[in-house]
Amino acid sequence: MNEKSDKLIDKKGIRGDGRKADELRSVKLQVGVLPNADGSAYIEHGKNKILAAAFGPREMHPKHLAQADRMVLRCRYHMAPFSVQERKSPAPSRREVELSKVIKESLEPALFLELYPRTGVDVFVEVLQADGGTRCASITAAALAIADAGVPMKDLVVACAAGKVDDTVVVDLYDAEDKLGSADVPVAFMPNLNAITLLQMDGILSPDEFEQAVNMAMEGCKKIYVMQKEALKTKYMVVKEIEE
Ligand code: ADP
Repeated sequence: MNEKSDKLIDKKGIRGDGRKADELRSVKLQVGVLPNADGSAYIEHGKNKILAAAFGPREMHPKHLAQADRMVLRCRYHMAPFSVQERKSPAPSRREVELSKVIKESLEPALFLELYPRTGVDVFVEVLQADGGTRCASITAAALAIADAGVPMKDLVVACAAGKVDDTVVVDLYDAEDKLGSADVPVAFMPNLNAITLLQMDGILSPDEFEQAVNMAMEGCKKIYVMQKEALKTKYMVVKEIEE
């Protein structure tokens, strides 16, 4: 928040962390960071720091959860006790159960579930540091981890939020904007297929503002998508160089 007023955006249109309304936080992505996982990714999205590990496709445990005609995707979103200022209980909260479901449902449309009957893919998301928009950053990292595990995908899934702060529609809200702003619209998107896989809204927006927020979030997704593909390529370029 700006120090000298309770406004989140100053008269010049600059936000509390120095960004313009349509500017993303800095994003860093790395693939293949956990040797014990089949696939993994690490994202720094602003001050968010998140690890994602993917396993499978493998036999389902417990077996009764296996589906005869499709693969089962299981996702677990967890925030470390030290990820927020006041210690968070390590036990799964209602919010974490909801976000685990949201992440799973955002990723499922990218997978060929029917080609892997009786198998399961597990994705574990660990939020090491949270600063607003962790569900979006988790989806971006989880999709990369699944791709890194070699699971065939229709497209990568990338996510970004937009929302309303001080009567202005802005992209990629950080924690203070998320809490003090008046609306938050997380969007997950498959850019190559031009398909939205998650659309949520918290707060109140007019139809015009909603449209503007969705468009801004999709533009943000497209920018992060370029970085996602780059992160995947970087890992395999290194492998190729070592082989040569
Ligand atoms: P998202 O992280 O996807 O925006 P929320 O809107 O539920 O999801 O949370 C917004 C932010 O609130 C989180 O990114 C995090 O910074 C903060 N937060 C969430 N849970 C807690 C908690 N238990 N204690 C303190 N801060 C929290």
